[in-house]
Amino acid sequence: MKLYRDYADYLAERFPCKMQKLTVNAGFSCPNRDGTLGYGGCTYCNNDSFSPAIAGTSVTSQLQNARAFFARKYPAMRYIAYFQSYTNTHGDLSRLLALYNEALAVDGVDAIIIGTRPDCVSPQLLDALAEINRTNRVIIEYGAESSHDTTLQLVNRCHTWQTTVDAVAATRERGIDVGLHFILGLPGETRDMMLSTVDAINDIRPETVKFHQLQLIKGTRLAIQVAKGEISLTHFTVGQYISLCCDIINRLDPAIAIERFVSQAPDSLLISPRWGLKNYQFTNLLHKALQSPKT
Ligand code: SF4
Repeated sequence: MKLYRDYADYLAERFPCKMQKLTVNAGFSCPNRDGTLGYGGCTYCNNDSFSPAIAGTSVTSQLQNARAFFARKYPAMRYIAYFQSYTNTHGDLSRLLALYNEALAVDGVDAIIIGTRPDCVSPQLLDALAEINRTNRVIIEYGAESSHDTTLQLVNRCHTWQTTVDAVAATRERGIDVGLHFILGLPGETRDMMLSTVDAINDIRPETVKFHQLQLIKGTRLAIQVAKGEISLTHFTVGQYISLCCDIINRLDPAIAIERFVSQAPDSLLISPRWGLKNYQFTNLLHKALQSPKT
């Protein structure tokens, strides 16, 4: 019995064979760091905690190397190039298209996922991506993080929820699939606020969503604010977080696929939470909780 629609379901509907994501670091920066929108970035962000250290290597060689690793074991596998690090639409249109097309020219790569901010996609870029999407699937993944503008302001996102609503509409209008990313446990957010974000997600119906727990990372502005006592965070136990995830699943439109509920920053950078669970162990606990009868 399926407990919720997951990412594998989404991929199986879109592609005729097994697909593997290959992460690409194309050397982008972020407009919330380089002064285009702001400096300093989002208060919780230390992009090193999720960026593979492969910048400087061409997109082609990154993908070929990653593909070689999987191809030995799974010769029939096909691939999705995932532009993950920083803001992967922050640049000249011609440079952006050259990078996306370079990825799609690599043997075995059939699709691209572009991770970006909702305020960083021009109509021209979306038109060009819609054109690529006619032959190779394009998926845009927006960092939305919360539907509450007070929270977005508190963590210095430099965009509003309406920006996300508009970006999703403009992307959907062009027939491009949308993924949204959210963080659970942002400063000042109550459980009710997080659940009302789920209602807001249902209103705009992305194809996929990712949630993850707020991770307090060394060297971030948030870590300094917490250390100084300027901000306090909700410290979820695993059980509390799983209970929140169950409520989210029960509330989310079942047509929206959930890609994940947790992520793991490198141990050397992570301050909290330190649950000591691998992602698959967390998923097992979540599935168990979803199947257990309510008391
Ligand atoms: S979280 Fe994303 S948008 Fe925010 S500073 Fe980091 S890279 Fe930029």
